[in-house]
Amino acid sequence: MTITQLFKKILPFTKPYKNLIAYTLLLTLVGSFAAQVNAFILKYTVDTISELLVDNQPLSQGFYLLGIIAAVLLGKEILYAAVQFGQKFYGEKLRIEIARDFSQAIIEKILTYRMAFFTSPENESGKLQTRIDAGISSLTRLVQNFFIDILPLFSNAIVALICMFLANFYVGLVGLLLVPVYFYVSQRQASRLSGFRRSMRKYRENKSNQIINLIESILVIKSFGREKIEAERHQKIQYDMTENQMATRKTSYLFESVKSFIEQIGVVLVIMLTAYFVLNEQMSLGAIMFHILLFNNVSAPIRQLHRIYDEVNDALIYSEGFFSILEEEEQREPTGTYRPHKIKGLIEIRNVDFHYPNGLQALKNVSMVVQPNQNTALVGLSGAGKSTVINLLDKFYSPTKGQILLDGVDLADYDTAYLREHVGLVLQKNHIFKGSIAENIRYGKTDASMNEIKVAAKKAYIHEQILDLPNGYDSDAHLLSGGQQQRIAIARLFLKDPPIIFLDEPTANLDAIATEQIKNSLDAIKTGRTVIIVSHSISQIIDAEHIVVMEKGQVVEDGTHEDLYPNHSVYHRIFTAMANSLNIEKITRSMQKQ
Ligand code: ADP
Repeated sequence: MTITQLFKKILPFTKPYKNLIAYTLLLTLVGSFAAQVNAFILKYTVDTISELLVDNQPLSQGFYLLGIIAAVLLGKEILYAAVQFGQKFYGEKLRIEIARDFSQAIIEKILTYRMAFFTSPENESGKLQTRIDAGISSLTRLVQNFFIDILPLFSNAIVALICMFLANFYVGLVGLLLVPVYFYVSQRQASRLSGFRRSMRKYRENKSNQIINLIESILVIKSFGREKIEAERHQKIQYDMTENQMATRKTSYLFESVKSFIEQIGVVLVIMLTAYFVLNEQMSLGAIMFHILLFNNVSAPIRQLHRIYDEVNDALIYSEGFFSILEEEEQREPTGTYRPHKIKGLIEIRNVDFHYPNGLQALKNVSMVVQPNQNTALVGLSGAGKSTVINLLDKFYSPTKGQILLDGVDLADYDTAYLREHVGLVLQKNHIFKGSIAENIRYGKTDASMNEIKVAAKKAYIHEQILDLPNGYDSDAHLLSGGQQQRIAIARLFLKDPPIIFLDEPTANLDAIATEQIKNSLDAIKTGRTVIIVSHSISQIIDAEHIVVMEKGQVVEDGTHEDLYPNHSVYHRIFTAMANSLNIEKITRSMQKQ
């Protein structure tokens, strides 16, 4: 990205703050003129005092002069202080408000992105978070510094250069010549540093991702006693980062010395040139101080040039990541426009292939028909592709090849939001949000009344247990057990009341008692809807009116339990394994003894 492109991208975000920017610019201009006052006053002072000395004027004249100088300098300082306050305050205000807008814009944007964006290896949560944070902070720092540092300093430099030229063409020329030399050196510095910065960005993203993974897997790490190995793994990235940082500093300091040397050459040239003109009686004595101060006003911002380059470069590198997230239009969730009056629930999957963003092929030539108002169970070993089918049916991903029809219409043609309004999903572990139980159930229908919430909770067989809690429906939802949380998820679905429901191993995380308790709620939500259930529970599989058996991404069998079991094929094998794992013989014996 170039600086112009960067500014073009930032521009729309600064639009709402036009007035604020105009005030800051006005203050900058006033500040630049005020900054030159010292040079003029010093020249005036030196010249007047030398005249007074030459003319042998009485001391009283001198006091009069001092009074004027003091009044002007004081007045200027008061004005300058006010200007600086305004600049800093408005600059900060701009930074805070624009940072807020950047954050909001990116959150609103990524919420519209398809699932593939979130599951792509490039966007693991730690990496994504760092990219967003670093992007926002470098961009906002740039916006703020542009108004607080860059603009005032450069406008000071330009006004000082004009004053130098007006006073003497040659001295002005020395000041002017310094600018391109400095620009050249700073640019070389910046281009040498940008490689380091880019690797630094990758290191930072990987580091936060590693920390998040570490915290998430702490239980496994501890149980295997792998603390030392994990610490060593982390150390590698730390060392790489340190090396990179040191290389950055070395380059920076080297260039700093070169620049400082160039600046000093400028100072010497100005002194020599002005002294020559003074000796030649073309200038007054005061001109020496005058030119040195003006030159200082020119070189001060240029001395800061590398910092500004640094910041712009930071912004260029970090905002690349930020804007690449903000502008991933192709990641926008695809949607059609079809919004039928009613969805019946006839699902036809035809010769579907599917690859995940990492390239893994999860489905191969999958075809199946799911009848409306029937319970269909997807059966297969772990990794067979059952959840992937549900992901495709929910339009979280689109098939790589083949077609999915709902009531005879291609799923791609459906308005995605409308489709999801008519589809309910219960997962192995449903997310319970921070907040009360009532709020969590209401997530199914945001305008639901308290009465509707209670009816839904009753249907999900959880109402009584909620009432037993000290604060009833206002209790913190995180207090609920796993089984209760699943029923909250089912209550949400009762509120939403969709004609199609996908249950993806809804009881896998629950113990036997909780599974037994949740059975009533599941049976209740299943009736009168098109249901696809992925389950390893024998009872839930036998209950299904239609069973589709999957193996290694393919459908291998299809029918009822009675059709499939005698085939002695994949279903028979899985079913027998499930039954054996229950140790039915011993269970039956134990139960008979009683
Ligand atoms: P099942 O539900 O039958 O256990 P899945 O549909 O979850 O199987 O997985 C099918 C295959 O796809 C597996 O090999 C799994 O590792 C892979 N897979 C699942 N989710 C993703 C993902 N987000 N990215 C890449 N591969 C995935």
